[in-house]
Amino acid sequence: MNFADLDLDESLLAAIEKQNYTKPTVIQQLAIQPALEGKDILACAPTGTGKTAAFILPALQHLLDFPRKRQNGVRILILSPTRELAEQTYKVSKQLSEFTETKTAIITGGINYGKHKEISDGCVDILVATPGRLLEYIDNETFDCRDIEWLVLDEADRMLDMGFTSMIERISDETANRQQSLLFSATLEGVGVERFAKNVLQEPVLVEA
Ligand code: AMP
Repeated sequence: MNFADLDLDESLLAAIEKQNYTKPTVIQQLAIQPALEGKDILACAPTGTGKTAAFILPALQHLLDFPRKRQNGVRILILSPTRELAEQTYKVSKQLSEFTETKTAIITGGINYGKHKEISDGCVDILVATPGRLLEYIDNETFDCRDIEWLVLDEADRMLDMGFTSMIERISDETANRQQSLLFSATLEGVGVERFAKNVLQEPVLVEA
């Protein structure tokens, strides 16, 4: 399979080419199409499998397929366990959206509130965040989850391991009107990932790298 066989816009194919990705990795081959068809995804994919692009590409395509009608809030929320991973994901989103109008922002500990003003200005499409810091924003009403369409949980096993379960459940409740959820985890064993996934995902397609 080639990237051209997936239902991806020319602007995304151009960014893929610029990143020198020649062929979709296994997880990309398995996850992108069902995600574009509106399905929830439960993905078992460790780092190094191309998992980041496996959720960023369909998210970007979704935004292109359903352009926003007015200035509104963030539409894709990606939760990462650590600031470092959030920064990497933010970078991949910027790279792959280079030839689109899509705007990505990041909220993590260590970045001050002032820098995040753009998020409440209503022009950010994709937000990458760590759960604790995002909840601070939700609680002090700096951030509104109202327009979230997709919730992506990256490295869910690590987030559960780090004790973020109740925080993610709260964010899941805050985004209860979303259309779709994607959960990526290095493993589906231990730390209760599968049990947790049942609460967050609806009839997910299971994909494994
Ligand atoms: P990840 O698993 O998302 O951490 O990605 C691991 C590495 O694979 C990153 O350096 C990506 O830039 C790279 N990558 C992702 N997708 C592809 C692809 N289809 N072909 C080649 N490299 C890729």
